[in-house]
Amino acid sequence: MTATVIDGKAFAAKVRAQVAEHVTKLKETHGITPGLAVVLVGEDPASQVYVRSKGKMTVEVGMNSYEHKLDADTSEADLLAVVDKLNNDPAVHGILVQLPLPKHLDSDLVINSIDPAKDVDGFHISNVGLLGTGQKSMVPCTPLGSLMMLRDHHGSLSGMDAVVLGRSNIVGKPMAQLLLNDSCTVTIAHSRTKNLADVVRRADIVVAAVGRPQMVPGDWIKPGATVIDVGINRIDAPEKGEGKTRLVGDVDYDPCSKVAGAITPVPGGVGPMTIACLLANTVTACCRANGLSEPE
Ligand code: NDP
Repeated sequence: MTATVIDGKAFAAKVRAQVAEHVTKLKETHGITPGLAVVLVGEDPASQVYVRSKGKMTVEVGMNSYEHKLDADTSEADLLAVVDKLNNDPAVHGILVQLPLPKHLDSDLVINSIDPAKDVDGFHISNVGLLGTGQKSMVPCTPLGSLMMLRDHHGSLSGMDAVVLGRSNIVGKPMAQLLLNDSCTVTIAHSRTKNLADVVRRADIVVAAVGRPQMVPGDWIKPGATVIDVGINRIDAPEKGEGKTRLVGDVDYDPCSKVAGAITPVPGGVGPMTIACLLANTVTACCRANGLSEPE
C-alpha cells in the first residue's frame, strides 16, 4: 500500500485564496483592511525566515503587515510597551510575538499581555481556556492547520483513536484539545511515555510533534492510519553535496508512507498550513473586532 499524500501546499494556497477573497470583501463593503503585526526580538535565523515569509504572505492576501524588529537586548518593559501600543492600535487586528524570545524575557508574561482578541497565535491563557472549554477562541495555527487537513481527508473524525506525540503548549496540547473537541479518543504521548511503539500502533490518527528527526519508524504505524507530521528538522544531506542540508519531519517518511493510509510530507505539509491559518485567524479577529460575520 502507498499512502495518499496530503498536499499541504495546495491546501494552504486554497485557504489563502479564500482569505484574499474575504479581505477584498472587507475592503470593498466596509472600507476595512485587516492588519497583522509581527514582533521579532533578536536575530534568530529561523525566526527571521518565518517572519519574512509571514510578512510577504500577509501582503499577498491584501492585508496590511506591520513588522517590529527589536534588538536582542530589548528590555521586558520596552517589549511590553510595544505590545501595549499594538493592543491599542485600531489598524492592527492580529498581533504575533515570534517565539522563542531571548532568555531574559518572560514569554508567558509577554504573550499574556497581548489583547486576547488580537492573539492570532492563540497562546494567550484566555484563548487556551476558551479552547479547553469548547468556547469560541483564537486557535493556534499549527494544530488548526493539521485539523483542517484531517477533516478534509476524513470528513468526520468522531470515534477515531488519535495519538499526539508531544505535549508542548504550542502544538501537542492544543492539537489534542482540537481532536477531543472533534470527538476523537485522544492519547497524548511524551518523553516519559512507556511502550511508545505500542501506543502509536493503536492510532487511527498519529500527529507527530516531537522535534526529533525521523523518530517514528514505519512499524509503529497501524496499516491505513493517517499520519500528520508537524516536525521541521534540518539534517545533514551529504548526498546533495558537502555541507548541504535538508528538511525532514519527525516521521521516517518513506517506510511510514508504505504503511499509512495518508501522510503529510515535510516540507509541503503542515508548514504552509500554519501560515495560511495565521492569515485566516487575522481575518477572523478583524471581523470580530468590527462586529461582522466571520469566514467559516
Ligand atoms: P517542543 O520541544 O516544545 O516539544 C516536544 C515534545 O516532544 C515534548 O512534549 C517532549 O516530551 C516530546 N518528546 C521529545 N522527545 C521525545 C521522545 N523521544 N519520545 C516521545 N516524546 C518526545 O517542540 P514543539 O511542540 O514546539 O515542536 C515540535 C516539532 O514541531 C518541532 O520539530 C518543531 O520544529 C515543529 N513545529 C512545526 C511547526 C510548523 O509550522 N509545521 C510549528 C511549530 C513547531 P516532554 O514534554 O516529556 O519533554
